[in-house]
Amino acid sequence: MSTHSDTAIHNVDNEEVEKFNSIASSWWDLEGEFKPLHKLNPVRVSYIQEKTQGVAHKSLLDIGCGGGILAESLAKLNADVTGIDLAQDSLNIARLHALESDIKNVSYQCIAAETFAEQHPGQFDIVTCMEMLEHVPDPESIVASAAKACKPSGKIFFSTLNKTAKSYLLSIIGAEKVLKLVPEGTHQFEKFIKPAQLIQWAERHGLKVKNAIGLHYNPLSEQFSLKPNIDVNYILYCEKLED
Ligand code: SAH
Repeated sequence: MSTHSDTAIHNVDNEEVEKFNSIASSWWDLEGEFKPLHKLNPVRVSYIQEKTQGVAHKSLLDIGCGGGILAESLAKLNADVTGIDLAQDSLNIARLHALESDIKNVSYQCIAAETFAEQHPGQFDIVTCMEMLEHVPDPESIVASAAKACKPSGKIFFSTLNKTAKSYLLSIIGAEKVLKLVPEGTHQFEKFIKPAQLIQWAERHGLKVKNAIGLHYNPLSEQFSLKPNIDVNYILYCEKLED
């Protein structure tokens, strides 16, 4: 029988983490490999702000925080943020950037989500896990960890790529091969997640799904916006049920 820490150690694709580590220095290059994340960040931050009635003075866990694009903007809105990831080089960049930006209410740890949740059950008002589930071997285990770390009635936000033909065309052919917005090999279609699947995992781990919304990219204006269609990239917003 496998223990939780076994699961934690196995729930990582080392090639994925290495891929992020190898481009860690470009996390804060607004025109670099992470340009799409910088572009979509304001839209997701306002959505989180709206659904939480403001993140200020709330404890917030960001799972798969990378270089801190989301974590730092939520800290700027006065949330008390902990970012976790397994890519050490990315975390070093995140720490350095917070230091340069003089942001003190964010801290970063290199730890598996499963291990962290075991150590901090029911502690966070808000948990975010964005653009990360499609990079791990066992996304359900990350969903379970997010639910575990969250307080009863706390709010959880996942975002990932839907498994549709349109998503394949836009995220892999469009973004990687035509527009060259992100490096080739950033995404693997097999790992994309249908909303029905993510909803099933969320409900299995004590979450109530409140809303799903699509993140749409307009290559002409280079802007993202939120729309009801969840064919490609989408956010699933959940609330943790009372025990
Ligand atoms: N959430 C951030 C970064 C998304 S990029 C944002 O939206 O801005 C995906 C991140 O997931 C990378 O930082 C990568 O290192 C991380 N990641 C991949 N596999 C992981 C794992 N098993 N555990 C924790 N983080 C992981």
